[in-house]
Amino acid sequence: MIEKEVWEPGRIGDRLKMQAIRSRRPLSCALELTYRCNFRCRMCYVRMTDAQAAPYGRLRTVEEWLDMAHQLLEAGVLYLTLTGGECTMYPDFERLYEELCRMGFQIGLMSNAGAYTDSVRDVFRRFPPMSVSVTLYGGSNETYRNVTGDPHGLDKVLDNIRFLQSLGVPVKLSFTMVRQNVLDYPEVARLCTELGLTYSLITDVTPHRMGPALSDALQCRLSPAQRALVACSKPREIAEALSEAPALERELEHFPLPSAPEGPLPRVPDACIASLTSCAICWNGDMQTCVSLNAFHRVKPFEIGFEAAWTQLMADHSTTFLRPAACQVCPMAGDCLHNCPGRRFEGTGSPHEPDPYTCQYTFLLRLCQNRRSKADVPFSPPCT
Ligand code: SF4
Ligand code: SF4
Repeated sequence: MIEKEVWEPGRIGDRLKMQAIRSRRPLSCALELTYRCNFRCRMCYVRMTDAQAAPYGRLRTVEEWLDMAHQLLEAGVLYLTLTGGECTMYPDFERLYEELCRMGFQIGLMSNAGAYTDSVRDVFRRFPPMSVSVTLYGGSNETYRNVTGDPHGLDKVLDNIRFLQSLGVPVKLSFTMVRQNVLDYPEVARLCTELGLTYSLITDVTPHRMGPALSDALQCRLSPAQRALVACSKPREIAEALSEAPALERELEHFPLPSAPEGPLPRVPDACIASLTSCAICWNGDMQTCVSLNAFHRVKPFEIGFEAAWTQLMADHSTTFLRPAACQVCPMAGDCLHNCPGRRFEGTGSPHEPDPYTCQYTFLLRLCQNRRSKADVPFSPPCT
């Protein structure tokens, strides 16, 4: 979130961002190359089989992506994030990646780091990525087997993280927590320390974006009470903390979900700064402001050209990025984390409706924090 960074006008990257914001021009773009993945995580919001993906379109070819990349360059985009699925599983990833590097883009990857072939390693050696954000799914091979389906998953991931570190590539770690791996928290924390890396927690799991039946996300994800307890606990306290979850969950009986007031309210914008300078293009060619908003008013850059697609996104901006009426009057709004239009769209199918899962979590998190000494909160690393 660039809003939280300290900006320095003397730094060239920050000057570029400021200029892009002022002129509402694209500076960053996420390319979601594929829905395919080496892992089969139970709670995944994007992975599909080829048969499941077929009704939604096809993967774009390397030539199509390179043509799009030239249009991005022309439009002023400097930063690319390659993601998926697992982006390195994209057919001919190495050629596409090398060409994009040669074009001068600053390229970051979002990856599970579980499937780097010799040729992927070779291209990373020659063109090290600007950074790699790696998501962890457990602290043992057994947990990886249970969550991702790969019985050697953790060994592969640790080996590839160490490989990236040997190249001097900055690696950012996060741990996606679900019911099947939450008790691995102490071991994951230990592994991150051993690697010399900080990490963040992801407890906010949303349904598969093409329909909840395509994953077990809703069955696997932590309950709002479990999430609140994780956010208020140190790794070694996790088992004991979670034993409080049933009692905490019962507090929801006294919590009416926030609702919109009677009568019309003024339209209040609810846009992040990134929405003025960033976009994301999905594996099938649909474009939106971010991957979370994918499928909301599909914009088609491969059909109308990138510049026209960007113009369309900016024209839609004031109607896409609106605060729900319930959030406008909600007394918990100041404490409500991860309640942006993209997150709401992932949870409810509309960027303009609050997700009850978020509301319940926010309510219980406040309760949990108030019960603990202020000096001790937060216990956990950054948690969304
Ligand atoms: S590693 Fe990521 S993209 Fe792959 S299945 Fe798991 S959650 Fe989905
Ligand atoms: S999403 Fe957050 S701000 Fe909106 S109604 Fe729920 S708790 Fe309140």
